[in-house]
Amino acid sequence: VQPTLGGSFGEFMEWVDEVRVMGVRANADNPKDAAQALEFGAEGIGLCRTEHMFFEETRVMSVRKMILATTLEERKSALDELLPVQRQDFYELYEAMEGKPVTVRLLDPPLHEFLPVKDEDIKELAEAMNVSFDDLKDRVEGLAEFNPMLGHRGCRLAVTYPEIYRMQVRAIIEAAIDIKEKGHEDIYPEIMIPLIGHINELKYVKDEVLKEINLVFEERNNTVKYMIGTMLEVPRAAITADEIATEAEFFSFGTNDLTQMGFGFSRDDAGKFLNEYVEKGIFEKDPFQEIDRAGVGKLMEIAIEYGRKTNPNLKLGICGEHGGEPNSVEFCHQIGLHYVSCSPFRIPIAKLAAAQAEVNYPRS
Ligand code: PEP
Ligand code: MG
Repeated sequence: VQPTLGGSFGEFMEWVDEVRVMGVRANADNPKDAAQALEFGAEGIGLCRTEHMFFEETRVMSVRKMILATTLEERKSALDELLPVQRQDFYELYEAMEGKPVTVRLLDPPLHEFLPVKDEDIKELAEAMNVSFDDLKDRVEGLAEFNPMLGHRGCRLAVTYPEIYRMQVRAIIEAAIDIKEKGHEDIYPEIMIPLIGHINELKYVKDEVLKEINLVFEERNNTVKYMIGTMLEVPRAAITADEIATEAEFFSFGTNDLTQMGFGFSRDDAGKFLNEYVEKGIFEKDPFQEIDRAGVGKLMEIAIEYGRKTNPNLKLGICGEHGGEPNSVEFCHQIGLHYVSCSPFRIPIAKLAAAQAEVNYPRS
């Protein structure tokens, strides 16, 4: 049974909304989750993981073609299949969010999640791509990684294959113009680049993003407002945030990766031993559950301090799992984030934690 907001609970949440100063957004990747997020009181989407859109059965073939292409021509043909689909995805997401902010993160998949494993799938794909089975099998093996979560993902993928992000940016902007032309003047997509660790990665990717945006503006003879920002999830980005902030309008803390890379604990494997740490009192809490204030939290504070030096208007949010955990939400309030973003079901808790934090540590 889904809780509905009404009666005394609704009144209580109204009070909570009056007290808190931090915004609360949702992590949502499709119109259904977006609608649910709104029902729980989300004030926007803080993270749309576009790779989740690519997991759909009907699209996997095009996505695999895109990743396994070895020529630009092959890749462009796969991207041509994906562009209308993505445009529709974003259109529906904007529509569902009724003018509230939507942060779209460009593709950040660990590649292995998309690679075909079974020989029969490789065979089917080889036929669709008009290449031999052995050739395609070699390509699949060539993309296998020992540690995909630290591998060829996020902006690294865009450095190798800029045309993938360009397709996505085209879809984001075309859909926004379509919405605007239907009378929704206030559309304002936020484009987010993942896994930046070095200012030159951001410069390179942003340049590609801007070229595509301006192309679409010219073609459509129309424009929309937009923002370009970055996930802040690599420790190196935190300690060079003064540089990064010169090219970013917002930072969204990816505390899942920041925890992984801050501690050097694999997100995929740490669960096998971290409970021992907690049981033996080495750690009070699992740092993937609650922000480790002394380490990961310190990196966040450094990023904010340095980032604001070069960009005082920097907008700050969090979209890692911690964004819906009450003690972490309190910490986010204390360090001055503008919003937290969490899964739709955690929104009421995040709002409550944000209000409680303002009561305990008033910002004003
Ligand atoms: C993160 O790293 O905290 C994040 C939100 O991105 P993802 O979990 O998709 O890597
Ligand atoms: Mg991440």
